[in-house]
Amino acid sequence: MPILSVEALDARHGLLQAVRGVSFSVAEGETFALVGANGAGKTTLLRAIAGAHRASAGYVRFDGTDITALPAHTRVPLGIALVPEGRKLFAGMTTEDNLRVAERRDRPGPWTVERVLEVFPQLVPKLKARAGDLSGGQQQATAIGRALMTNPRLLLLDEVSLGLSPVAVEQLYTSLRALMRGGTTVVLVEQDLNRALAVADRVVCMLEGRVVLERAAKETSREEVLAAYFGLGAA
Ligand code: ATP
Repeated sequence: MPILSVEALDARHGLLQAVRGVSFSVAEGETFALVGANGAGKTTLLRAIAGAHRASAGYVRFDGTDITALPAHTRVPLGIALVPEGRKLFAGMTTEDNLRVAERRDRPGPWTVERVLEVFPQLVPKLKARAGDLSGGQQQATAIGRALMTNPRLLLLDEVSLGLSPVAVEQLYTSLRALMRGGTTVVLVEQDLNRALAVADRVVCMLEGRVVLERAAKETSREEVLAAYFGLGAA
């Protein structure tokens, strides 16, 4: 049974239908990349999976249970964690406190501040620094660490490399690859096609709210994904 299945999902912003009849499923341990041009609907889809945006039709099932109607705060204890675009840290709090606010008694598991620091060693010297004073890469690492503190079974990452230097992106992905190898199920939105194809097991390309291509990453090329991206390819 897939850990996540999205079935004929629609999501709207008022009159605008941002997600149109999207279906796919994600197996436990899989890394699944969502790609597509700006405005294709990737963020809205990710937020609908997390419960941060209401679906207007269709289903989201997690571990076989229909969670479509559940609000975001009740999906976290089930094991769904979203790292939103723009990180949304508490800028005036320390890095450590940003991590600790996500500690949950209702969802025990392996993640502790110490373990987050093993995965993101760049945070070790910054633990007592204000989150607002961290570099972009350190802030992103903190945002991912905060999500991990909820002991997720499914980690949703929205454009984690946006606005970071190439060195910071490389450092972040070194950590993410370790997480993926460790068996964390990841759905990520990534603008960089090469990177998406390199890290993901499967790639879905969205165009104007619809899925126009779904492939095993190994069995597709950058050219094929690009054609789908611009609406030139066959699905
Ligand atoms: P990006 O890479 O720019 O984040 P995306 O693929 O994640 O794009 P979404 O952000 O999901 O796409 O946007 C899908 C559509 O919904 C776009 O047409 C966008 O303009 C619209 N949209 C997104 N957020 C809102 C909002 N809060 N209010 C109204 N329309 C919105």
